[in-house]
Amino acid sequence: MSVPDSIEPIVGIALGTTNSLVAIANWPPHPAPPSPPRILPDDRGRPMLPSVVRFDTSTPARPIELGYEARANALLHPLSTIASVKRLMGRSTADAANDLPHLSFRVVEGPNNTARVALPTSSGEPHVVSPQEVSAIILRALRTQAADRLGVPVSKAVVTVPAYFDDAQRQATRDAGRLAGLDVVRIINEPTAAALAYGLGLRQLAGAPLAPQIVAVFDLGGGTFDVSILRITPAADSADSTAADCFQVLSTSGDTHLGGDDFDSALLSLFTREITERFGPMTFPPETLQSLRQFAEAAKIRLSAADSASIRIDLGGGRVYQRLITRAEYQTLIAPLVQRTIDCCRRALKDARPLMHDEPLSAVILVGGATRTPLVRDKVREEFNLEPYTALDPDQVVALGAAVQAGVLMGGGSGRRSLLLDVVPLSLGLETVGGAMAKLIIRNSTVPCRAAETFSTSVDNQTGIVLNVLQGEREMAADCRSLGRFELKGIPPMPAGIPKLKVEFAVDASGILTVHAVEERSAKRLSAQIVPNHGLTADEVARLERESVTHAREDMTRHRIADLVTNARLDLHWISRQLDKLAAEVPSDLRTDLESRIATLRSMTDAAGRDWTSVDANAMHRAKDDLDRASVRLHELSIARSLQDDAPGKAPRSTPPR
Ligand code: AMP
Repeated sequence: MSVPDSIEPIVGIALGTTNSLVAIANWPPHPAPPSPPRILPDDRGRPMLPSVVRFDTSTPARPIELGYEARANALLHPLSTIASVKRLMGRSTADAANDLPHLSFRVVEGPNNTARVALPTSSGEPHVVSPQEVSAIILRALRTQAADRLGVPVSKAVVTVPAYFDDAQRQATRDAGRLAGLDVVRIINEPTAAALAYGLGLRQLAGAPLAPQIVAVFDLGGGTFDVSILRITPAADSADSTAADCFQVLSTSGDTHLGGDDFDSALLSLFTREITERFGPMTFPPETLQSLRQFAEAAKIRLSAADSASIRIDLGGGRVYQRLITRAEYQTLIAPLVQRTIDCCRRALKDARPLMHDEPLSAVILVGGATRTPLVRDKVREEFNLEPYTALDPDQVVALGAAVQAGVLMGGGSGRRSLLLDVVPLSLGLETVGGAMAKLIIRNSTVPCRAAETFSTSVDNQTGIVLNVLQGEREMAADCRSLGRFELKGIPPMPAGIPKLKVEFAVDASGILTVHAVEERSAKRLSAQIVPNHGLTADEVARLERESVTHAREDMTRHRIADLVTNARLDLHWISRQLDKLAAEVPSDLRTDLESRIATLRSMTDAAGRDWTSVDANAMHRAKDDLDRASVRLHELSIARSLQDDAPGKAPRSTPPR
């Protein structure tokens, strides 16, 4: 069938740590009924492309092997074979510290705090490439693969990322697409894509409309584990083609270093231990280790289908390692690893509970090749008390879901529209004058979302305001991650508290943050898409969440004192100035009273400046209120004098009300 030139395909791409896939739905456009999503395989019919690239050693280094071939030779060329580059996307070397020991290649710090890959070259001078460039090679291959299968050029894609990917990691993914000549029209969360494919599958299988429900997505791939709890809310009017189904991520948890490859490693350790016990101590050259690992993976896959697997490895020199491994023995070996996935499930459920309103989970969707392991399925069944949903191929479900969303964006077919609602993984806010974190968008808010807050200055004649954009759960800015600093310059000199700085945060449907700021009195504007220096790991997200709970009480007090000190200083400044200005009008008893209250409050703010723990927040609050009350007469005198048209009714705040 020929396709009108005006309609361009939008493909769905799952850019995975271990494997990547490309899929399409509703193509060719306008058939009736709309065609379901399908994987676009390579020219040998293989659906997956291992996310592995090998470079040569010329200067500059060029990619020479990709996918299965690059993976097969990985152990022979450890320094020039780049696998798991997704772990470095949008991150600094410090962020990726836990990943570095697992990577065979060299990682160096690049400009702007970003992790880069240093490839060896024959000149001796390393060739440095960004993770985005390596991902772009994979994306370009998928783009070509899709174009070959469809017979039309492909330049648009929906790409999936883990739900916990922060702004930097999403931006890096979008940039990788751009480098591959792809317009990434939407970035969606992997569990959301899986639920979308599941929603579609259910509707097709049952031939009935989707019911409102809460599902868990359990995603165990080669190297990473993620679990997410999602709420699926069908469109209110199923006859309306513009109505939207909602797929809302309620919570996520996971482990960035847990996957099927760890099951291989457990078997590999067993093999090497037994080999050295049997044949004496030996070192294993890379070629032998490569073969042993392949044997381990083959045995693992066999044990998913059979009760036992026999292993026979010829080590040369008449040494043959041979044994039968039973499924029971293998399961004992991997039980602690599987238990770690269950612990994460409990955490995700605990986080989602307040949003579930006592509704039960209606399904657990399995994603990722390692969920074919029977022990994993057994433990999931036991934990959730539900039969895991396995109707979709766990390797393909994310790419199929991305294709469903791409099909919707293409507007092809007559299928109902589906709107995806994802969540912000960590709160977003600004540093206030006292060093506290003023949260504008709270963690787990659904995207797209926006929030605005008005701030002011704390010093007279301030012509520039620095905005420090923060991400995190803690109360003080120093304990949160700074996403970027911006300065709004050129504000006309005004007394402290007079400028009105309206800051708006907008997180788009792909989870990318844009900050707009306007000083409303002078109409000075600033707008910036946040391009942060680095990102946060899932572990770090988990740690930040844990710390926010542990330090919650202390943080709240510290935040309260910081805000109190800032506001008290503004009061002290304004009242002292008015006492000078209105020297003739202020009665002596009022002056004496105010001066003594000023001294009390100032001694408290000074003490807090030296050591915040030495201050009683309640006492400071009372002292400030007393001073505010006592200064009412001073305000009246000030207004009466009408010195300032724009004088604030009371001392202005420089932090948002809490
Ligand atoms: P993914 O990252 O989703 O492509 O998953 C890859 C992981 O799934 C690798 O560790 C594979 O060895 C593993 N895997 C693939 N098939 C099976 C199977 N039948 N049983 C157990 N693990 C498998």
